Amino acid sequence: MSCDLVIFDCDGVLVDSEVISCRVHAETLTRHGYPITTEQVAERFLGRSGREARREIEAELGRAFDDALEEQLVADVLRSFAEELTPIPFVDQALDTITQPVCVASSGTLKRIAFALARTGLTARFGPHTFSAEQVNNGKPAPDLFLYAAKQMGVAPQRCVVIEDSVPGILGARAAGMRALGFVGGSHFVPGMAERLSAAGASATFADMRQLPEFI
Ligand SMILES: [Mg+2]
Repeated sequence: MSCDLVIFDCDGVLVDSEVISCRVHAETLTRHGYPITTEQVAERFLGRSGREARREIEAELGRAFDDALEEQLVADVLRSFAEELTPIPFVDQALDTITQPVCVASSGTLKRIAFALARTGLTARFGPHTFSAEQVNNGKPAPDLFLYAAKQMGVAPQRCVVIEDSVPGILGARAAGMRALGFVGGSHFVPGMAERLSAAGASATFADMRQLPEFI
């Protein structure tokens, strides 16, 4: 099977950010009166946008968070990224081998994507071709972001392949009519993840970025 565009999720696919991000969210939410563990954040919110996570928690609490929470979360995540963030192993090697155009489609904000790619030396790989949930109405698992990215890149959805590490991401790619591959090599991996990504519609799953070119 061939394709004309490879769309990468960012968190957990290009950069090994999910353990860091989930930990910071758990600490900050707990401090603001919503006790939650790192594992629970991963289970409930992995792959979804912060905006939608916040909506869900506020509905549950019956009150809105202070706007300061958002700012603090962004600042805390970026500070931790600056100290700890690393690329997913062998992602450079995979990008060297792929001959098709590539882009990023992430639930994170454009600012966060740019910071993560810069910190891990991946900025030049994608240039301006980074797309965020903040540019569309509905984040993953809706197809909006993937369709937006494909349109911006000038490629038909059925000619795209999406690399994702989360169930909402795989569901979104499939809803967009794209082939989806599940990556399970991030530090946040938990047993059963590959099966869950397959059940969501991933045509294959893999744990080593050096394997990616053979699936594209
Ligand atoms: Mg992800």
